[in-house]
Amino acid sequence: MLIVMTSDATESQIQDVVQKIKSIGLKAHTSHGANRTVIGIIGNLEPIDPSPFSDLPGVAECLRITKPYKLVGRDLKRDKTVIRIGEAEIGGENMAIIAGVCAIESREQTMLTAQVVAETGCRWFRGGAFKPRTSPYAFQGLAVEGLKILSDVRNRFGLRIVTEAVDEAALDLCEEYADVIQIGTRNMQNFSLLKRAGQARKPVLLKRGMSSTLEEFLLAAEYIMAEGNYQVILCERGVRTFGDHARFTPDLAVIPAIQQLSHLPIIFDPSHSTGRRETVIPMARAGVAAGADGLLVDIHPYPERALCDGPQALFFDMFRNMIEEVRAIDLIVKRHRESFGAAKGADRTASDRPEDSRVGPQCLTRE
Ligand code: PEP
Ligand code: MN
Repeated sequence: MLIVMTSDATESQIQDVVQKIKSIGLKAHTSHGANRTVIGIIGNLEPIDPSPFSDLPGVAECLRITKPYKLVGRDLKRDKTVIRIGEAEIGGENMAIIAGVCAIESREQTMLTAQVVAETGCRWFRGGAFKPRTSPYAFQGLAVEGLKILSDVRNRFGLRIVTEAVDEAALDLCEEYADVIQIGTRNMQNFSLLKRAGQARKPVLLKRGMSSTLEEFLLAAEYIMAEGNYQVILCERGVRTFGDHARFTPDLAVIPAIQQLSHLPIIFDPSHSTGRRETVIPMARAGVAAGADGLLVDIHPYPERALCDGPQALFFDMFRNMIEEVRAIDLIVKRHRESFGAAKGADRTASDRPEDSRVGPQCLTRE
């Protein structure tokens, strides 16, 4: 349930509502908007009786949140979430590009790549130290040695580091060394890992499960937020279909659908979703045109020798071209928003009317 306070509600009236929620054993999530404060009640399994709350001073109305994802949805928080680390942002005014190698293979390979990423003005570097591989015989990553190289990338180039945690032990280490913890597609419904990520004090980049519905994706993000970590970035990385011309099928329509349902930033990975270098740039252009808040891209100094995902890694010159192209497209998308939307990023929001957040893409529940 959502308790909407009157625009002149005092801090002590807000606290009284929070205390009342806690006294019945539930959690309160307070969101201070420009005009009013909204308090979400989280953790109930059954519908809550609004009467003990509706009569409290300062309460304007009590609304039921009908969506199963309470913290992820726009009912509770209408403003977009922006992830900020120093100057680097995801979900803000500028499109974020997270680029780097699939796997950290060596210091030389990583530094050569990081130099190019920094030169193109990107602020985020990706690289796997722990790799979730289909075959147990494939290269599994350099583990801590890889994390140390990533840490050196941050020190040398000022890039912010995104790296994947494949399990809870890896997450402890990634939390120590990285800026953003990635949860991969194969772990999107690893609920104990999601809970652990929710206890981390670093933002989490959650990749969509390759066979997951939109609702399952948003509920996976809810797992992280329910533990108290509100810094979540969603990533579309392609889903399994009957198409066999690419590794996966990029589901670009999920980008505007998510932007209507959730305040979380949604980025797009054209590399893993296609698996083929020739297809990465066209899909990157399309993802930005669809309104993605950023891209996650694999590049490599010598893709033909890469130990992981070489066929999808862009050569450096391809990457430089891609950056120019997607920046030009991003400007057009922004101009469109400015001329059609009243508010900043208007076509990513469900508008200012609360009832609008209840229409739009519906998720089919598959329990
Ligand atoms: C990756 O980003 O390196 C990765 C393994 O991606 P995914 O989990 O989407 O396959
Ligand atoms: Mn990869």
